[in-house]
Amino acid sequence: MTAQLIDGNALSKQLRGEVTRRASALKARGITPGLAVILVGDNPASQIYVRNKVKACEDSGLHSVLEKYDAALSEDDLLGRIAALNRDPAIHGILVQLPLPGHIDAQKVIESISPDKDVDGFHVASAGALLVGRPGFWPCTPYGCMKMLESIGYDLKGRHAVVIGRSNIVGKPMALMLLQKNATVTVCHSATPDLSAITRQADVVVAAVGKRNVLTADMVKPGAVVIDVGMNRNDQGKLCGDVDFDGVRQVAGWITPVPGGVGPMTITMLLVNTLEAAERTAG
Ligand code: NAP
Repeated sequence: MTAQLIDGNALSKQLRGEVTRRASALKARGITPGLAVILVGDNPASQIYVRNKVKACEDSGLHSVLEKYDAALSEDDLLGRIAALNRDPAIHGILVQLPLPGHIDAQKVIESISPDKDVDGFHVASAGALLVGRPGFWPCTPYGCMKMLESIGYDLKGRHAVVIGRSNIVGKPMALMLLQKNATVTVCHSATPDLSAITRQADVVVAAVGKRNVLTADMVKPGAVVIDVGMNRNDQGKLCGDVDFDGVRQVAGWITPVPGGVGPMTITMLLVNTLEAAERTAG
């Protein structure tokens, strides 16, 4: 078997087209969806991420503001900036690029963002809303994975989904989203003793670890759907995921590539969340 690709670029293009259409409908009512992106320090990877996010906003007709601060910015000053953005009616979404410098309490900063503008979905109010199934913003990466499953018409009801990784931003919300769609969910992590015994039972595997070749062909049930969230570099310095793509694609039914899979979907869902924040303001 050779797995079919779930193309994150193609799906993103389609969803961003919808964002553009909905954004222009809002603009006709005098509201331009606005995202504020805050970057503290000069982490090179973060600089690329924020640039891509701002460009994606511009390409989809959303207003975006990039605020860059020196790594020495105090926590109080950052909290003050967020308080001002919380009050700013032109801003519907606020994103603070992580990681923050060590002297700043990242969780405290995230909690200072108004839950109505928490388009990254990292606030405890957003996490709580997801947990109990209430409206709120879903974290962009697992939300993008769910859209990818939806795009292939995959019915999760009664399926066994295995999530590898339990971070607050990917693994845990991913598990909750799959559960909400009636999958039977197993969450694995670094203390899971026999990972392959579990993944071999899975109809869907989501790998969100940050290590190459965490999932190899012998660990996958034939026909399974494999979603690769990981972002790593191979020996040649090229971007790769957590999944041994060439091996696993011979066994799986569906697979997401890296690059061109979950990565573009993450930014797309940020646009969707920002648009929805603006639509909620508009009533
Ligand atoms: P993280 O916070 O470092 O979490 C990694 C998780 O993997 C932890 O729960 C850890 O377990 C688990 N783990 C580590 N080694 C393992 C092993 N050998 N077997 C099973 N589980 C293991 O990372 P993250 O923020 O969730 O991100 C995960 C990956 O996704 C990274 O490569 C990141 O760059 C990527 N990512 C991509 C996107 C995108 O847009 N494509 C977005 C976000 C993240 P413990 O909890 O026990 O330590």
